[in-house]
Amino acid sequence: MYLEFWGAARSTTGTLHLLEINGRRFALDCGLFQGRREETWRRNKDFPYPPESFEAVVLSHAHIDHSGNLPNLAKQGFTGKVFATSATADLCEVMLRDSAHVQEQDIAYVNKQKAKRGEKPFKVLYTHDDVERVLSRFVSESYGRAFPVSDGLECTYLDAGHILGSAIVVLDARENSVRRRIVFTGDLGRRNLPILRDPEIPDWADVLILESTYGNRRHEDISTCQDKLRQIIERVVERGGKIIVPAFAVGRSQEFVYCLHQLFNAGHLPRIPIYVDSPLAVRATEIFRSHPECYDAETQAMTDRRDDAFGFAGVRYVETVEESKSLNAQPGPYIIISASGMCEAGRILHHLKNNIEDPKNCVLVIGYMAENTLGRKIVERQSEVKIFGEPYQLRAEVAIMNAFSAHADSEELFGFAQTLAEGGRLRHIFVVHGEPERSTPLVERLRAELGGVQVHYPERGARYEL
Ligand SMILES: [Zn+2]
Repeated sequence: MYLEFWGAARSTTGTLHLLEINGRRFALDCGLFQGRREETWRRNKDFPYPPESFEAVVLSHAHIDHSGNLPNLAKQGFTGKVFATSATADLCEVMLRDSAHVQEQDIAYVNKQKAKRGEKPFKVLYTHDDVERVLSRFVSESYGRAFPVSDGLECTYLDAGHILGSAIVVLDARENSVRRRIVFTGDLGRRNLPILRDPEIPDWADVLILESTYGNRRHEDISTCQDKLRQIIERVVERGGKIIVPAFAVGRSQEFVYCLHQLFNAGHLPRIPIYVDSPLAVRATEIFRSHPECYDAETQAMTDRRDDAFGFAGVRYVETVEESKSLNAQPGPYIIISASGMCEAGRILHHLKNNIEDPKNCVLVIGYMAENTLGRKIVERQSEVKIFGEPYQLRAEVAIMNAFSAHADSEELFGFAQTLAEGGRLRHIFVVHGEPERSTPLVERLRAELGGVQVHYPERGARYEL
């Protein structure tokens, strides 16, 4: 029995871990790598093995860096099943269709620029047909109930508390007389996040694949986020600026609206327009509304008293491109929430292009920005950034709120591993989904404090026998 790491190994995007049992191959997630355009294309295009040799994919959650390369897998010959929770399957339907759409639009724009310079055009990674092909392979499963993935491999999904439908993947694998329980955190959420139930921790495991996005960071307490958000809004509203919020259309947008809703209910939100400018966010919000089985008690109670957790007076969902464009001419103050979360594609690019040169405005960062993305350059407050290949001066305020993070912080990650180690059987921890400066402190702490457990920080392509 072997584990191999092909994506999100010493980085955070393009998750792809492979489990091999008796020579049969299973993928844990199949995400899109995101980074520099050329590298992005190259890294996503090819798989380490022929896709037809993959027997099944077990998906942890719908985020595109975990699911976004599935259509390409199907395009290249994969015909197995894709297991997911019911909410993840629904979200993937809209997200993968949107991913194909965004790629087409984005590439068309870039290729127009390239044509002007006489350069070779880029190709899209996959089309709508490939998306439909892989969607037909999905099998929905419930939380907390073991299901067979294949002969010798059973899976149970537990709450990960990260986004709607997100799961911790518990795999019980058997190869001849060898039995191993492998726990894959997917992306581990946090306690007390809006909307979702808290993450669960399995009692025991032999092997843990642990994400480490914030392996070196303590988050602000979630209870302080209301006050901080209120101060930012008041400050920008006073100077008549716009607040541009890059957010994953799925998850972060809904949570952010939920928090604005709470500010509104408490009488702490100035009466300014709030736009959710992402057709994907509109569709994703409908899916959030249709999966109450994923809600925590508070959101359940809101739903019971018919208070819409995902919308309130003042929030407007923008669907058409015309309406999105017309926002540019509209003077502030207002808040605009738009995708994509890392500012790599989608309508957010147009809003940034039109607004980041004005110091009245504010870019409010509420999510993780991976290396080499435009989002990261904004977080670093680089004085000049490129958007669609053109330079722009970053003069707008950049405000960062980690409290909204949907990822566990260093204490929560360590606590998860420690609890599993207390189960007495843990032999290996593979730390994934983190950039070196974030993951290394976690790796070192796990090594120092969890005796008897081998802690690995695998490089891309590394292979381990279990
Ligand atoms: Zn995620």
